[in-house]
Amino acid sequence: MDRTQSQASIQFEVHDSAILANARAIVDAAGSGQEMANAVLAAVQRNEEWRGKRCLNLLAPEAPTSPTVRHLLSSEIGTRAAEGHIGRVNRWFAGTQYIDEVEALCVELLKKAFRCNYADHRLMGSMIGNMAIYHALTQPGDRVMTAAQPFGGHSSNRSDGPAGTRGVEIYDVPFDPVELAVDLDRFAEEAQRIRPKLVVMGMSMTLFPLPVRQMSAIIADWGGKFVYDGAHQAGLIAGKQFQDPLNEGAVALTGSAGKTFSGPQSGMLMWNDQALTQPLTEAIFPVLAATHQVNRVAALAVAAAEMIEYGEVYMAQIVKNSQALGKALDARGIPVLAAKRGYSKSHQVIADVKQFGGGLDVAHKLAKANLITNKNLIPGDAPSDWDRPSGLRLGTIEITRLGLMESDMATIADFMARVLVEQEDVDAVCRDVEDFRLPRQMFYYCFDNGWPPAAQ
Ligand SMILES: *Cc1c(COP(=O)(O)O)cnc(C)c1O
Repeated sequence: MDRTQSQASIQFEVHDSAILANARAIVDAAGSGQEMANAVLAAVQRNEEWRGKRCLNLLAPEAPTSPTVRHLLSSEIGTRAAEGHIGRVNRWFAGTQYIDEVEALCVELLKKAFRCNYADHRLMGSMIGNMAIYHALTQPGDRVMTAAQPFGGHSSNRSDGPAGTRGVEIYDVPFDPVELAVDLDRFAEEAQRIRPKLVVMGMSMTLFPLPVRQMSAIIADWGGKFVYDGAHQAGLIAGKQFQDPLNEGAVALTGSAGKTFSGPQSGMLMWNDQALTQPLTEAIFPVLAATHQVNRVAALAVAAAEMIEYGEVYMAQIVKNSQALGKALDARGIPVLAAKRGYSKSHQVIADVKQFGGGLDVAHKLAKANLITNKNLIPGDAPSDWDRPSGLRLGTIEITRLGLMESDMATIADFMARVLVEQEDVDAVCRDVEDFRLPRQMFYYCFDNGWPPAAQ
């Protein structure tokens, strides 16, 4: 039996088998390690040429980093080991004095950006931040209420994610499917019955602020705690354009630095109460992070400084752009959720694309025109619609950092309508998208490039 045959007969892969087989063929055909490395470099280069230069990237959980942040991600400091808490005695390793300086700056910049008493910088992602929350604040068998996916919830707070590994019992927070809002009356009723120890609201589909104050007050009756998983909203929160969960009753805020916060892909954890410091930080070290990528920490620190300097205006423009994009799509026959509420108060716009073939096919068709989006579950979709939901999620982070303003949203809506409504040839639309994007290669709202020309 040759290697390929034996692999096929014994291996179960979760990945697409044709794509893996292609990679295996490249590795097998390569005459040297150098050729194998070249194949990797070539694929990275193809992505940069396409996604980096020629696409309108409208993925809501993605953000372009500033040149300085990107540079720091490959800096020497990223090769150093520095596990543990900051400081000479706390660390296991000597030689960390400059690393301590960088990490301490990161902590203080995060506290300033989020206007809070405590912050942690060592989490690789929000997923790990949420794991720290469940590890620190729950025991197996505890009851937790979170948002289900069709209303925007995320696996990190569901039974198939970090929450599930802690063995907690998960109950759904009731939502009003028309208003796309927490149904507070039903929440009060069900929370009284369930008496959850934690309510964790993590919205991957997020258009409007949550009733954090009211929900926190309801569960306070039995000592329940509210945690805000602000993976998506962290930048909007820092830039004072959404809500301020830690001042509205949430005991902790987790966030992904690579979403609206526009920094390196990374987790962040913020809180105010000193009583939480020990359980939360002990969940981070020694439980979830040892070598925590100091290059990422340095990049996160600079991203926080960018947020402090540019965040308010940058995030306000992101929200204005989503509202303008929602309106422009709706006007061109692509139905957008929450029209009555002004489409959005975040970086997201959610379209209902069922009539155009559903989110999966629509997202792939748009990608052929260099318009990058994702399929999304929306209220009304059944769990069986998981792979083929009716919705399409768009985000305005990258297009805003490219310096685009409200008037540009009509141009983007035109591109989309030409593909979906007018069924124009995607290659023709693709050429026009490239003509629009290629001259725009500079990311603004950062120390490297300052304010966008239209905002000066
Ligand atoms: C994206 C997301 C996460 C995971 O964040 P990572 O930084 O990618 O680990 C967690 N919770 C919610 C609500 C999210 O949308």
